Amino acid sequence: MTTQLMQDDPTSLILPRVRALTAYQLDPHPASVKLDQNENTLGPPEPIRAELEERVRKVPLFRYPTPGQPEIRAALATAFDWPADGILVGNGSDELLNMLALAVLDPGRIALSPTPSVFVYGQAARIQGADVIEVPLTESFEYDVDAFVDAVSRHAPHLVFLCSPNNPTGTVLSMEGIRRIVASAPGLVVLDEAYWEFSGENGRALLDEFENLLIFRTFSKALGMAGLRVGYVLLQPALRRQIVKVQQPYPLNRISQEAVLAALSLYDLVLARAAEIATTRDALGARLEQLPGIDVIPSKTNFLLLRASLGGDKTFDGLLARGVLVRNVSAHPRLQNMLRITIGTEEENERLYAALKETMETS
Ligand code: PMP
Repeated sequence: MTTQLMQDDPTSLILPRVRALTAYQLDPHPASVKLDQNENTLGPPEPIRAELEERVRKVPLFRYPTPGQPEIRAALATAFDWPADGILVGNGSDELLNMLALAVLDPGRIALSPTPSVFVYGQAARIQGADVIEVPLTESFEYDVDAFVDAVSRHAPHLVFLCSPNNPTGTVLSMEGIRRIVASAPGLVVLDEAYWEFSGENGRALLDEFENLLIFRTFSKALGMAGLRVGYVLLQPALRRQIVKVQQPYPLNRISQEAVLAALSLYDLVLARAAEIATTRDALGARLEQLPGIDVIPSKTNFLLLRASLGGDKTFDGLLARGVLVRNVSAHPRLQNMLRITIGTEEENERLYAALKETMETS
């Protein structure tokens, strides 16, 4: 019987809808300047790092993490003034996005996503067999709120993804725009705020207004801890009690738990560092814009999306040949000739500038 099921090909057992997907893939390229993943290349501020090292020395590694992470959720609750029983923590916000899709989506249900935006939204929905409706951003990569509200009323999605500031465009959706979309949505709305610290504003206050809103955040960007895989969601406690059922028992390891406590006790330092990165971003963006053939999209994140007249592939290759790795997003139909570049340290930014100048001049 088993052989019949497999028909000599073990992959025939994989669900057709999973077989139809493309895996998330990031080719490893050796490069001395790595600006392709929107990490905070400065890492966490030194006092947070020191506090974490101190804590890690005392961690009982042989113990499982505490079930339900009460201490972590209490610390997040205090930091963001939201009840601890309305907070989910996970192994990066990617895990939490997948959990939400697992708990909410199914064949016959619909997810709405902006495009271009984060790969995981569509992928998580398609794994569940849900239909994905993509709402295009405008020519200048702004959210088209009317188009969103219209799509919401036409499709009645169970789940709407909003990303602000948006990856990979760096553009924001206004609080009024978010309010209009959430108010019109019959289902749940994700507001992914992975980059909020660089933009200076966030939608926390909207949680007091809307029960269908879930705010997703991460320690991978402003907090400089992508390697520790920490994400969290602020949501209604009743929703948390349901969604947590699809999560594995110990989503955060003990070291990551200590990192959350260390970082939250010194969050002002993180916000100050994010503001510095934002200033650097604006200055670098203005300089890059001066290069012939380069067009920079105004950004509220720790990265810049730019258009290169030389073409995405050639510019990417030219930078890589000079030791600078960026993200080539130009295969996306809306992002032709475009690259996404993380704001790095002063030295990394200088290397990037010189490499881009040379690439544009010599090709
Ligand atoms: N949301 C957005 C908007 C992102 O850019 C990213 C990371 N690229 C994620 C979520 C995933 O973050 P994490 O590292 O917490 O899984």
